[in-house]
Amino acid sequence: MTASHPIPFTNSYANLPERFFAPQAPTPVSAPALIAVNDALARQLGIAPDFLRSPEGVAMLAGNHLPEGAQPIAQAYAGHQFGGWVPQLGDGRAVLLGEVTTPQGSYDIQLKGAGPTPFSRRGDGRAWVGPVLREYVVSEAMAALGLPTTRALGAAYTGDTLLRDMKRRRGAVLARVARSHVRVGTFQYFAARGDVEALQILTDHVIAKLYPDCENALDLLQAVVAAQARLIAGWMSLGFIHGVMNTDNMAVSGETIDYGPCAFSDIYHPEMVFSSIDQYGRYAYGAQPQVALWNLAQFATCLVPLMGPQEAAVEQATAAINTFTPLYQAEWLGRFGRKIGIAEAQPEDLPLIQDFLTALAQGQGDFTRSFTALRRGEDAAQELSDPALLETWTPRWQTRLAQEADPQGVMAAANPLRIPRNHRVEAAIMAAEDGDLTPFETLMKALAQPYGEAPEFAAFEAAPALSERVIRTFC
Ligand code: AMP
Ligand code: MG
Ligand code: MG
Repeated sequence: MTASHPIPFTNSYANLPERFFAPQAPTPVSAPALIAVNDALARQLGIAPDFLRSPEGVAMLAGNHLPEGAQPIAQAYAGHQFGGWVPQLGDGRAVLLGEVTTPQGSYDIQLKGAGPTPFSRRGDGRAWVGPVLREYVVSEAMAALGLPTTRALGAAYTGDTLLRDMKRRRGAVLARVARSHVRVGTFQYFAARGDVEALQILTDHVIAKLYPDCENALDLLQAVVAAQARLIAGWMSLGFIHGVMNTDNMAVSGETIDYGPCAFSDIYHPEMVFSSIDQYGRYAYGAQPQVALWNLAQFATCLVPLMGPQEAAVEQATAAINTFTPLYQAEWLGRFGRKIGIAEAQPEDLPLIQDFLTALAQGQGDFTRSFTALRRGEDAAQELSDPALLETWTPRWQTRLAQEADPQGVMAAANPLRIPRNHRVEAAIMAAEDGDLTPFETLMKALAQPYGEAPEFAAFEAAPALSERVIRTFC
């Protein structure tokens, strides 16, 4: 690695036909200043963390320096936003610098908040510290919790301010890493234009990059259905609510992408919504599997023209889509079974799991803490407003666990102790707005190993006090 080539770029997306993107360099900012560098991720990508901390590296993170080999572009895509069709969205505030090849595959490096692009519409192309740090914290927590996700490579202040919700805020840029930023909406963009040639090129690109075992569009559809079924079941098992499951925010890689008004719920309820823009609960916790299925049906519709004679293609695509629910349910059962200590839950274990969740919902139990109590052998009933809600459940559960070899070990691996709680994330953001990064840095440390007992981070297990509760999250 030489000083002039600090990042080993190879750019497969920028080499696709011109109509897939717009060439777009980041727009320089006034005064780049480092917020954070993710050392472990940098090393995984073959980038020296010291380079990212150098003046040149910080300038790169903020968009003021284009590293050699970068081919910056804004990607084109469309999407259904809250069910409404938008034929052109695209990267309005993000620039893909390029792709980096590692032994584990290639990864996109994208700057979010890097200035206007041809897809910005009326937006300013920028982001403030709030969404940048929320995405930084929550995406890294998601990775540590073990689910596929985009990652945060680093973040920088821009030195500029911007106006959001009538408030002056500090600008920031997030350097985001993903296996791919191709979305369901990327396919929709070309499908809506009747551009079958582009759909085939995009399909070939995604197969080569992400699903090398697939041979054709139908294989790809099936692989994406399976990846999403696993992902959404994973979200559910952690109490995660994405908040904006528009088709342009669903990555075909199966990575969690576009952390906007997302949240890990404190108090459990299937209808829980945090997003300030989700007025009708379209993307509520319990709605997520149905929405994923709806999005995948849009994806299938895009691929049908590549699948041969239409009638047979529709039939095959429908069959692939119909595998979502059984795949999701099996994954959900496995995950929630392990959360209550059953290594390989069977359908007959469902009532035991469901009844626990019903008690949580009725007793306003904290999702994470209630499962933590089970794993620690504490009385989960104490987490509920009415402990009697678990009176008959607890002995049933204990009887079932008598058949298990290592329920405590199974629960310890399935139930995190620490999640990125909204009030902690908000506090870290507000301090960073004032230039104090200590709460952010401490939070990152507390969330790095979320399943391990860590007495020094016990405070991060606490549910918010009533006065601390965050009930709305913003983009
Ligand atoms: P999101 O809801 O963040 O997934 O964004 C939806 C669309 O709006 C995408 O095309 C974004 O690129 C675009 N967008 C969001 N915020 C901005 C902004 N500040 N400036 C320009 N475009 C934006
Ligand atoms: Mg172009
Ligand atoms: Mg988006």
